[in-house]
Amino acid sequence: MSAKSTIEWTDSTWNPVRGCTKISPGCKHCYAETFAERFRGVPGHPYEQGFDLRLIPEKLAEPLRWGTPKTVFVNSMSDLFHEDVPDRYVEQVARVMQMANWHTYQVLTKRSERLRTMLATKLSFVADARHIWWGTSVEDKKHGVPRIIDLRQAPAAVRFLSVEPLLEDLGEVDLTGIHWVIVGGESGARARPMDEAWVKSVRRQCNAAKVPFFFKQWGGVRKSEAGRELDGRTYNDMPSRASHPVPTRTKRFTMITEVASWANGSPVLEVWGAMGLPPQASHL
Ligand code: SF4
Repeated sequence: MSAKSTIEWTDSTWNPVRGCTKISPGCKHCYAETFAERFRGVPGHPYEQGFDLRLIPEKLAEPLRWGTPKTVFVNSMSDLFHEDVPDRYVEQVARVMQMANWHTYQVLTKRSERLRTMLATKLSFVADARHIWWGTSVEDKKHGVPRIIDLRQAPAAVRFLSVEPLLEDLGEVDLTGIHWVIVGGESGARARPMDEAWVKSVRRQCNAAKVPFFFKQWGGVRKSEAGRELDGRTYNDMPSRASHPVPTRTKRFTMITEVASWANGSPVLEVWGAMGLPPQASHL
């Protein structure tokens, strides 16, 4: 996937993991699976192995290459907290987010128990970071709502909910400790319908709890026609972003080479090229 994203609530995507497995009803029409499987068996394509889960260590340093601050959706094509992603790799992804702190990261998972456990232990070094937003998906009462409890218990500075695809009325939800809520309906040929009353219930609860509310889309078979207005207006509220200066290219290159060393020799010369720096300028 390219770095630039068409997802309404982010600028860019970063996929140091590719592929996933389904875990709950929200996964039924997973767009990432549909996209990835289209390229299974295509030699040389990033998704040659379809939606099979694999680590992509050569992608780890990517945010360090981006010299302009972005909002980055982490693993739009996977789930960072999938059980087959080793703790050590999750830690490395978090280290990069800690280093490249001029971006804002949105980490969204359906494996909220592991998110909670790791933020309290091996990821505690980023728990206070305001430029990393940790979120969980909430599609229904049975599978989604219990994830909110895990997320609230996670010692994160910024927590968010992606209520998408919203599959039923969630009823009254405890939004204590939640800093942002996104709501959206499913899109695509087999999209499951979303009732307006379900959306308004979440909006009402966000208003009451003073939680920023973002309405992403109605979805449906013709997503662009259905649009994203609710009661004649759009809702684009978000938490405020932390601001950190962008280091010089030389400093960024030093960080990139450190990350490359974790990955057992990512191609450093390619990194030079990506940053537009001549090899003879190397200070290493
Ligand atoms: S957790 Fe996300 S990426 Fe994984 S199968 Fe479900 S919807 Fe797709």
